[in-house]
Amino acid sequence: TSSHVQGDGTSSQYLRKFLDEMKASNIREHLRKFTRLPHLAGTKQNLVYAEQIREEWLSFGLDSVELVPYDVLLSYPNKSQPNYISIVDQLGNEVFNTSLAEPVPDGYEGVADIIPPYSAFSPKGQPEGELVYVNYGRTEDFVQLKREMGINVTGKIVIVRYGKIFRGNKVKNAMLAGAKGIIMFSDPADYSAVGVQPYPDGWNLPGGGAQRGNVLNLNGAGDPLTPGYPAKEYTYRSNLEDGVGLPKIPVHPIGYHDAMHLLKKVRMNIHTNNQVTRIYNVIGRIRGAQEPDRYVILGGHRDAWVFGAIDPMSGAAVVHETVRSAGKLLSNGWRPRRTIIFASWDAEEFGLLGSTEWAEDNAKLLQERAVAYINADSAIEGVCVCLCACVWLVFRYMHTHVPSPEEGEEGVSLYDSWHKRDNWTSDRDAPRISKLGSGSDFEAYFIRLGIAAGRARYTKDRKTERYSSYPVYHSVYETFELVERFYDPTFRRLQAVAQVRGGLIFRLADSQLLPLDANEYAGSLRRYVLSIAERAEKHPEEMKMYRVTFDALFSAEENFTIAARDFHVRLQNLNRVRMVNDQLMYLERAFIDPLGLPGRPFYRHLIFAPSSHNKYAGESFPGIYDALFDIESSANQQQAWQEVKRQISIAAFTVHAAAMTLTQPA
Ligand code: GLU
Ligand code: CA
Ligand code: ZN
Ligand code: ZN
Repeated sequence: TSSHVQGDGTSSQYLRKFLDEMKASNIREHLRKFTRLPHLAGTKQNLVYAEQIREEWLSFGLDSVELVPYDVLLSYPNKSQPNYISIVDQLGNEVFNTSLAEPVPDGYEGVADIIPPYSAFSPKGQPEGELVYVNYGRTEDFVQLKREMGINVTGKIVIVRYGKIFRGNKVKNAMLAGAKGIIMFSDPADYSAVGVQPYPDGWNLPGGGAQRGNVLNLNGAGDPLTPGYPAKEYTYRSNLEDGVGLPKIPVHPIGYHDAMHLLKKVRMNIHTNNQVTRIYNVIGRIRGAQEPDRYVILGGHRDAWVFGAIDPMSGAAVVHETVRSAGKLLSNGWRPRRTIIFASWDAEEFGLLGSTEWAEDNAKLLQERAVAYINADSAIEGVCVCLCACVWLVFRYMHTHVPSPEEGEEGVSLYDSWHKRDNWTSDRDAPRISKLGSGSDFEAYFIRLGIAAGRARYTKDRKTERYSSYPVYHSVYETFELVERFYDPTFRRLQAVAQVRGGLIFRLADSQLLPLDANEYAGSLRRYVLSIAERAEKHPEEMKMYRVTFDALFSAEENFTIAARDFHVRLQNLNRVRMVNDQLMYLERAFIDPLGLPGRPFYRHLIFAPSSHNKYAGESFPGIYDALFDIESSANQQQAWQEVKRQISIAAFTVHAAAMTLTQPA
């Protein structure tokens, strides 16, 4: 029997204690405390919060907590020369100017250092020109403009609405189309729910509010000046001109009141500065008792555009309570089997910088020792539906041990509540789990290093705007009161998220056998292979002409399915737990191609990558997907289909090689 690998009886008792110890009222206090003042990356206040977190984590009982600094490229508006956009008349006079700041919410009037809305890393410039509206600025929006409407934006300034995709992709598309500037605005259609009042009477974005955010295209590089290596004091830095992912045209965000005024011809006035600045991650540890050399990581960012009550502090408050609860267990004699690392990342908003630099700094240790990474950004972004995204972590167990926080669902598990609301469509009766994309700190761990990763949060109805986020996202209106009054008055939703994230960490760190299921991976791989093959089948003639076949990939996927099944059968009567756990841990690593994806050397996972058209979305078999994308408009068909063949063979080899790691070693 498997009693010796599942004999986790005391561990289960501790898990129950661990979950029960997490209190909604404490999470409320943590959130209150860490959202009083703006704490942008690189500012004094964000260091003050880092020091406070260190002190408290130590007092909660962690074995060690340290601040880990890096010097990375950040970007701030010029205090004495504000950014704005004007309508200019024939004589060049400014007849209308956009606002320089958002109206500050009640109770925060005296607060200093509220950074005005800006697009971080915009170059300076004062381009002037005709304005062209390009919808959401997606690949397909620019294609439509050019191919169907015959409109050329070369030398024009484009205006796009926020939403649907990561803003950095919009800026890249505008650059490639030849625009000389880009303005992004929040359209009420995307940032105002019907029947909801603007903040403070409701949770909608007021007309004077705007979304801050970085507009980089880093493709996983981290700090733009030190790709591949940690940004320490002594580290060599490239010139700004050679920095990774920096936009070449001025960018600026505005609210919908200002957007209504803009027409025809405008001038952008952008004076934002790039500046190498010190940032601080806080890293706390609990040493593992039996396997100190195996790491389980719970990480989320601390830096916020302003108060950050949802993004990221709803997540940080949850981590804080998780650390407190773990400390309490330690004082009751518990010690996890494996080492747990808690991280409070800095400068996520500037391109996932703190988490990526730490990953670069510790890459050798992590690739040998990291079991899994759980992300802890915003814990809530919707008021109605619960949904979580993960990969092949066994989290079902977790959710069944956490009660639903919803009113009228007493006695219902979070799992059943989620299942009821968001069933996987046609193919399976189970709650839906989305692919991991990017746009938060798990990226370097999962996509670059190949560490199994997951995220879980309270979100909104997935049928509406999946990537447009919540209305007041990255505005000054992300206050403690917003969460307390509209998103989670009892703080029980945040408590549930704490229990899921904390519970996942607990099981990963304390189960004798790792809660990772290769059969789940096999099932997903099969669906991904079918779907990418189907995409190619849309070109039957070319497939025939260039002799493109998916046979090798199907066969590799079959090998994988068999290897996974046999592996889990063998687990049933095996006493070399460490050996099989290592096979599980290294399975994710096996999907890493050291050469990376074409043109994206830091995106090295062959099965998943952030979509080339939307950093927030995940794409499966990204190499093949990109080779097939819009292939009919390639000038050289022969060459384009050769690339498809090459990508299929790389994927087939990698899946096959991964399957081999699951077979009996000797
Ligand atoms: N989460 C931040 C945002 O969406 C940063 C994302 C990124 O740079 O990948 O703006
Ligand atoms: Ca670096
Ligand atoms: Zn954010
Ligand atoms: Zn965030």
